[in-house]
Formats: sequence, structure tokens, C-alpha cells
Amino acid sequence: MAGFKKCMLLCCSAKVSKEDMGNDTYEDAIAGLTKLLSEKNHLGDVAAAKIKQLTTELEVTGSDQFDPIERIKTGFNHFKTEKYEKNPKLYGELAKGQSPKFLVFACSDSRVCPSHILNFQPGEAFVVRNIANMVPPYCQTKYSGVGAAIEYAILHLKVENIVVIGHSCCGGIKGLMSIPDDGTTASDFIENWVQICAPAKSKVKSEFSDLSFGDQCSNCEKEAVNVSLSNLLTYPFVKDALTNNAVSIKGAHYDFVKGNFEVWNLDCKISPTTLTS
Ligand SMILES: [Zn+2]
Repeated sequence: MAGFKKCMLLCCSAKVSKEDMGNDTYEDAIAGLTKLLSEKNHLGDVAAAKIKQLTTELEVTGSDQFDPIERIKTGFNHFKTEKYEKNPKLYGELAKGQSPKFLVFACSDSRVCPSHILNFQPGEAFVVRNIANMVPPYCQTKYSGVGAAIEYAILHLKVENIVVIGHSCCGGIKGLMSIPDDGTTASDFIENWVQICAPAKSKVKSEFSDLSFGDQCSNCEKEAVNVSLSNLLTYPFVKDALTNNAVSIKGAHYDFVKGNFEVWNLDCKISPTTLTS
């Protein structure tokens, strides 16, 4: 029975990575399991088989464990030999400064990197990424991080295009759509942040009440982009640049399930039928 109890404890340990456990504990676990296995006469067949399986899993986990530093080194070495060293002209120019054509808002979601999906090269896009690719309204205290990025992009870099890119299966939008009507929140930051696009949620709930929750979320992904486009106009320097035809503002939606990318102009939000793909 004591052996079985130890086996159960080691069962829990097996789910912990080698790094979390520390080498001593990890080696101890392997040694403990091996010892138990050698004494398997005292155990039932099932328990002995389980111990053997755990020993194997621990050994495999130990040898094949993901090494983040190694992954970073490999990634940078690949970039340096395949991109950096093969494009000395480009990187020579970038060493002197940047002059990006785009200010891009994209979600932090790991599947929607704008440089990857739109093939932006270094120097082409000044990018802000946050939960659900939202542009908050002008506020010097609550949203200074986003405000600083917009101010720098418009006034100093003089970007000519602002693009806000929503995407399919957005967890942030799902979170927004899931906030109960009484406004109860359960997170420290997330729900408060995504409520920036609460007007999009209200619009979808009233206009698409007959749709499934999933389809409502899909619609909200695009409506939230439109709320962000409107919020951009609350920044005086954006409004000025727009009035002077120095900048264009576009909304977009990337659907990684269907492999589609949709883009529309700010003024098209008044008549959504003009959306183009
Ligand atoms: Zn998202």
C-alpha cells in the first residue's frame, strides 16, 4: 500500500516539467520509480505496468523537453543567415531609420501575426498588438500606451495608412460577447479592456439576435473593428491627418479557418454591403 501511495505521488510529478521539478527531484523520481519497479513482486501487475509507463514518460520528457533558449537561438540563426546576411542593402537602410507605410493594429493571438500573413518586410509596418486588436478612444491616463504608439506613428513616422485587423475565432471578442448583461466581470484586466468595443456587442446582440453565439461572435469581430476605426477619429492628430488626406484608415478581417482576408475603407462602414474580399 505504501508503494502504491508513492506511485500516486509520482503520478503527479510526471506532469511537472524537468525544469519545474529541479534536476534532483527529477532524478529522484526516476530512481524512485526504478526502485519500485525492481520490487514489483510486492505490487500488482497493473501498478507495476503503470510505474514502467511513468518511468518511460519521465525519461522521454527529460530528453525531448522544449528548450526556449535553444529555440530562440535557432530562430535567430535562421533569420540571420537566410534574411539579414542576404539583404545587406535593406538592413543597411533600416540601420539609418524607419519609414513604414502602415500603422497596423492586430490581435496578440499567436496565429495572426500581420508580418507573417501580409508578408510585411522589416521597416514596412509599425505594429500595435493587443487583446482583440482594439483601438481605445483618446484618453491620456487610461490608454497612454496605445495613444503614444498612434501619436508616434502619425506625427513622427508620418504613416500613410492605418489598418485595424480583426480575425476569426478571436478569444477577446468571445470574451466581450460573454460578459453577462449585469456587467459582472471575473478577470483583472481582460473584460475591462475588451469593453472598449461594447458598442459592437450591443449592435450585434440587437441586429443578429437570431444567430448562434458563434456567428454573433464572427459578426462582432468585424463590428469591433469598425468601433476601433471610429475611435481613431478621437485622436486629434489622426483626424487632422485624415482631413489633410495624409492618411487613410482601413478595417480588415483575417479568417484563418477559411483562409480569407477582407479589407474595407473607413467610410464603407456606413454601408457594409460594399465590403470586398
Ligand atoms: Zn484575437
